[in-house]
Amino acid sequence: MAIKLTVPVNGPITQLFGENPDFYKKWGFPGHNGIDYGIPNGTPVNAAAAGTVALVGFENGGYGNYVKLSHTDGGKTYYTYYAHLANATVAAGQKVKAGAMIGHSNNTGASTGPHLHFGLKIDGENPLYKGYVDPMPYFSTGDPASPSDESVSTDIPDAVKIPSSLTFEVTSELLNVRSGPGVEHPIVGQLQKGKTFSGRRLQSQSVWVEVEKGKWVALAFSGLVNLKVK
Ligand SMILES: [Zn+2]
Repeated sequence: MAIKLTVPVNGPITQLFGENPDFYKKWGFPGHNGIDYGIPNGTPVNAAAAGTVALVGFENGGYGNYVKLSHTDGGKTYYTYYAHLANATVAAGQKVKAGAMIGHSNNTGASTGPHLHFGLKIDGENPLYKGYVDPMPYFSTGDPASPSDESVSTDIPDAVKIPSSLTFEVTSELLNVRSGPGVEHPIVGQLQKGKTFSGRRLQSQSVWVEVEKGKWVALAFSGLVNLKVK
């Protein structure tokens, strides 16, 4: 059994673990060492699991203001990182419950826009990433759109009926628009909260909705719902 995490903020994922290898070379990583959530400055950031505050720190050319929590599960120690914060609302040594607020988001450190960087580290694992691992598989399963649902094949069997067009409203703050139905496709724009559009899902089991030709958004990601049907 591994630790179960809950998402630290409600917002669209703007960068996945392992992306942009060139940018992360300078920190000695083969790619991005966590997950980024695009959220407005000042968004409350919550502990992904119950634990203890290991460190409240500042890294000018890196994490900016950040909080590191330690968690024990099944005799194993896990660390979660919450970076580019405005401030921490917890202090080192403090115990926190899962979902408890630990600070507010911002854009401090090596950051190019308001977001939360979330990292998961397990000592001795994934040496190329100095212990950082992809947090995605640790988020609670059984969500309507667990990560494995994201990379939906574009080879649609003839038998699958194409769903009819529906009117959707964006319920997350900023929703990434991608050039194809999957997070492996580049981001080509963003939709604001409240925006409505008529779209069609890739297939009845898919989380991907085509906004217009060649522009796709995810209905939900890691259990966070980005759209509602009007
Ligand atoms: Zn990041």
